[in-house]
Amino acid sequence: MRIGSLVALLLAASGLSVGAQQRATELGPTLLQNPSIRTAVDAAKTTESETIEDQIRLCEVEAPPFQEARRGQLFAQMLRETGLKNVRVDNEGNVIGVRPGLQPRPNVVLSAHLDTVFPKGTAVKVRREGALLRGPGIGDDCRGLADVMAVARILGKSSITTPGTITFVATVGEEGLGDLRGVKRLFNETLKDGVDRFVSIDGDGVGITYIGIGSIRYRVTFKGPGGHSFGSFGTVNPVHAMGRAIARIGDLQVPSSPRTTFNVGRVGGGTAVNAIPAEAWMEVDLRSAEAAQLRSLEQRFRQTIDDAVVQENARWGSQQLTATLDVVGVRPAGRLAPNAPIVQAAMSVQRALNLPVSFAEGSTDSNYPLSLNIPAITIDTGGTGSGVHTLGETFNTTDAWKGTQRALLLVLALAQP
Ligand SMILES: [Zn+2]
Repeated sequence: MRIGSLVALLLAASGLSVGAQQRATELGPTLLQNPSIRTAVDAAKTTESETIEDQIRLCEVEAPPFQEARRGQLFAQMLRETGLKNVRVDNEGNVIGVRPGLQPRPNVVLSAHLDTVFPKGTAVKVRREGALLRGPGIGDDCRGLADVMAVARILGKSSITTPGTITFVATVGEEGLGDLRGVKRLFNETLKDGVDRFVSIDGDGVGITYIGIGSIRYRVTFKGPGGHSFGSFGTVNPVHAMGRAIARIGDLQVPSSPRTTFNVGRVGGGTAVNAIPAEAWMEVDLRSAEAAQLRSLEQRFRQTIDDAVVQENARWGSQQLTATLDVVGVRPAGRLAPNAPIVQAAMSVQRALNLPVSFAEGSTDSNYPLSLNIPAITIDTGGTGSGVHTLGETFNTTDAWKGTQRALLLVLALAQP
């Protein structure tokens, strides 16, 4: 999902076009004057019922973390039916299909993610109440997948030829401990050195994300000898040590700009109320829009663990309490300048379609190409969502076709030399 705060910039897209930026800022409106492109953009609205059907169909196939294969196979089959070339599944489970242009480059990737945060066995039947769809993952990111499919389907029926190539992708491992494994494989192996521009569709609304929030995630395990709560009183206690650490983490000071955050998300440990635990563990998520801030936060976080261990051992005159830190996720930070051509092109498309221009920052598949200095943005799906990452997730399809139109016109703009 795109997890980010709106940067709260509502820009008049005009007035930013100077010199070399001129072309990018005019791209959307210019392309829309082409009759074939106008027809294709209109089709994104008139075939919205098919997009919704695809959204539901894909979402009713489970895709738990690390088990996205069945949804991936369905996605590959549906991509083949649109007429794409070389539809395949790579070694990580990413699905890839190609619409060749007049030239292989630029190669634009349009992508959404297959995986959800929900475990195997989750009921994934989608309920439809008018414009409202209810089901786990229905917006995040089944709508993104359906948008990718819609763009492939509409272009498959269109006579539009693009100067560059458009590659359609569904990634695995975007969520949580998936740790961007899909998009990492895509750029390190499957399409290595072959992507010029990357667009991920993720999140609800019509925003544009070009700041990738970096994150680092830890699992910390505190250990001690354990014992009886009464009989062994005086023994170091891993839960107490973890409590000391959490209290310190809770007091860490972080800047609001660049936005920098911390969260102890899960804790566990112990066996009984009358036993001194032998083990306690927690999972911690640290994020920042800037790599240097993230490093600083990480250092201070690690210090809280060291301090807690020292304190707990000192409290009982012991050396038996230990803590182990395991990194369980790394999402590199990366960002573009607001006047980067891909951002300008996206703004021109918003303007051409009379959509507001709003920017967000987030943690998505785009983080990885951004960290490699490959132009990348994440665009929202259109429509409005609620309850993302909960079983009660909903997606309101009202005007969601605007997101499909935007994705379509944007890839056409980015497939220009
Ligand atoms: Zn997502």
